[in-house]
Amino acid sequence: MSTATERTLVLVKPDALRRGLLGEILGRFERKGLTIDALVVRTMDAQLADQHYAEHVDKAFYPPLKEFMTSGPLAALVLSGDEVIAVVRALVGATDGRKAAAGTIRGDLSLSNRENLVHASDSPDSAKRELALWFPEL
Ligand code: ADP
Ligand code: MG
Repeated sequence: MSTATERTLVLVKPDALRRGLLGEILGRFERKGLTIDALVVRTMDAQLADQHYAEHVDKAFYPPLKEFMTSGPLAALVLSGDEVIAVVRALVGATDGRKAAAGTIRGDLSLSNRENLVHASDSPDSAKRELALWFPEL
């Protein structure tokens, strides 16, 4: 039995759904051996965007990011597994798809530093906060 099972919050962003990449991205998480504990397709509203990206609301890139993130349906999921927070960040890759390593989701499938397909919690504290925001019932 694992001693470090964690949960993380993943958003498969609107660009991924528009491009028909939801299955490809979910498949990567499944093939890694992670467990999908919850999954919902919904459209983020302005208030949720401001809460979710609280650390970024004052940055220059935030207005276009908010526009993008609220532009259509996304998939929100809870993944669990051994050290899943760090494991998922590694699978997702660096923020800018042009610089992300080949083999990562962003490195293989994105050419943008905004439309980069996936959000994933970056620490245990972020995961706790974001899971409460998106899946308060869990
Ligand atoms: P990550 O998603 O890799 O944790 P950040 O938390 O730094 O990255 O940024 C949140 C999101 O904001 C990114 O995933 C990306 O969509 C967008 N973003 C970050 N930096 C920029 C930038 N310089 N220009 C445009 N969009 C950006
Ligand atoms: Mg981040």
